[in-house]
Amino acid sequence: MLALPKRKLRCSFCRKPETQVSRLIGGAAGGYICEDCIGVCNKILDAAPSPFKSWDELSEEQLLSSIKASEASVAALHSLIHTLVEALRKREVSWTAIGKALGVSRQAAWERFS
Ligand SMILES: [Zn+2]
Repeated sequence: MLALPKRKLRCSFCRKPETQVSRLIGGAAGGYICEDCIGVCNKILDAAPSPFKSWDELSEEQLLSSIKASEASVAALHSLIHTLVEALRKREVSWTAIGKALGVSRQAAWERFS
């Protein structure tokens, strides 16, 4: 009888496999989140005032404290995109297909990620 290979679990946010994260927490809907992504979420929640008011109603201190967390979010998403492109390139998916998915030319995709 053949044993099925164990499916590698991944963070649903950054797509890192369970072997590259310290902890992975599963959700009821089948998604997972790693400790790094939880850290990013906590930074966002700490900085984002709740309930949300319009930007005009926030103090300069509140706006200033949101900048760092916003920057961390951008960095996390940037890292996620790179991880996805790396995974696609490992599968030998073409720069043309990656560029098309990003809405840019093959050349622009290659210049940005290679
Ligand atoms: Zn993650």
